[in-house]
Amino acid sequence: MAHSKLAEFGVKHIAKGIGRLTNEVLESGAGSYVTTTSGRRMLDFTCGIGVTNLGHCHPAVTKAVQHQATQLVHGQVNIAFHKPYLQLIESLLPMMPHKSLDTFFFWNSGSEAVEAAVKLARHATKKQNIIVMQGSYHGRTFATMNMTRSKTIYGEGFAPLMPGVFSVDFPYCAQCSIAKHSDFKYNYDNCCMDPVSKLELLLKRETSPSDTAAIFIEPVLGEGGYVPPPKAYLQKVREICDKNNILLVLDEVQSGFGRTGKYFATEHFDVRPDILVMAKGIANGFPLSGIVSRKELMDMQKTGSMGGTYGGNAISCAAGVAVAKAFQDEKVLENVNARGPELTGMLKECAKDPKTSKVIYDVRGLGLMLALECQPGQNYAARIQAKCLEKDMLILTTSIYDTIRFIPPLNISKEDMAKGIQIIKEAIDEVAGEGQRVY
Ligand code: PMP
Repeated sequence: MAHSKLAEFGVKHIAKGIGRLTNEVLESGAGSYVTTTSGRRMLDFTCGIGVTNLGHCHPAVTKAVQHQATQLVHGQVNIAFHKPYLQLIESLLPMMPHKSLDTFFFWNSGSEAVEAAVKLARHATKKQNIIVMQGSYHGRTFATMNMTRSKTIYGEGFAPLMPGVFSVDFPYCAQCSIAKHSDFKYNYDNCCMDPVSKLELLLKRETSPSDTAAIFIEPVLGEGGYVPPPKAYLQKVREICDKNNILLVLDEVQSGFGRTGKYFATEHFDVRPDILVMAKGIANGFPLSGIVSRKELMDMQKTGSMGGTYGGNAISCAAGVAVAKAFQDEKVLENVNARGPELTGMLKECAKDPKTSKVIYDVRGLGLMLALECQPGQNYAARIQAKCLEKDMLILTTSIYDTIRFIPPLNISKEDMAKGIQIIKEAIDEVAGEGQRVY
């Protein structure tokens, strides 16, 4: 089919339920760039929402997958262990944020792994209810839809949704009246603890500790605006869980695997989860997700009650092993911590500059999980995103707040980062120059 007809064909034959940023059709990807069928090369600061974290078609990952495809493709979980599954666990163990996290199970997608965590939590505690955060994203499958509170459309028209889900506010420092006046220098360690009181109230009034199996938290809210909480908040939630025999489940589907400058975001907060949920960056684009917990908890599941046909398939596990090795070989975490401040430095300069400050409400994030929240009411984030697209660069907004999220490859070169920074700066300048619009 002629490349000029491809997008039209897609619009005709692909369900509308899939969103997209552009009508371009992607053909290939290498490192920080994707190339379309029309030959347009675009700098990718989305990584497929934090999936191709080591860049497109990372050579070592591709090589591992090619090799595995000649050895064993379907792993036969529930029939026998297979080698890449075991090698993956061996590679992941040293990356775990706490030594109690020593027992794994793998699936294909983040939502499946979240659902597995719900099953495990209910089974292990013999309690039903779960608590999620306002602004959360845990997936779009039947159970996870009701756990996702960042966009109402995810659950609209599908009722009845999974019962027993309660939600509570997540700390959001940018709107806190004290932090707001502190010139982007929040004291994340000693913040006001209003969300903790709300959680305590929820446990008193709506779902008692004796009915509550688990609290699910993204340690940095993803779709909900790339919001890191104060350190003290997560630590307080850990205490509440311990006191009430409630499990703490950290969903690190988006924040895990180096995105925040540590293997897992929870390391920034010194908090031990009971169950950690992983996906996306784990295999750089191959379908793989998993949960990890302590053995005595995981072993409460009846044999055969977990898993699915393709979960932890051999090719994805081989990709995961190559990803873990690349983190060491390429000093990926060091790169994240060097590149992140280059981007936030520019954004913070724009926040101070009288010409651009009117566009910017907040600059936040950890590592290369970074966000620019725009002043409300002017649709600035979508306008900056459109300008970047014109300049051959892909960036994403979040589901709530007028916020852009920056998700470049974790191993992005200094040159590609400089190029990205220049494009984003030009887009902010241009949008600021357009003045106010009436909506
Ligand atoms: N949890 C989080 C934090 C996510 O960001 C996502 C995906 N955006 C999911 C769960 C669901 O993952 P998947 O799309 O692979 O089902």
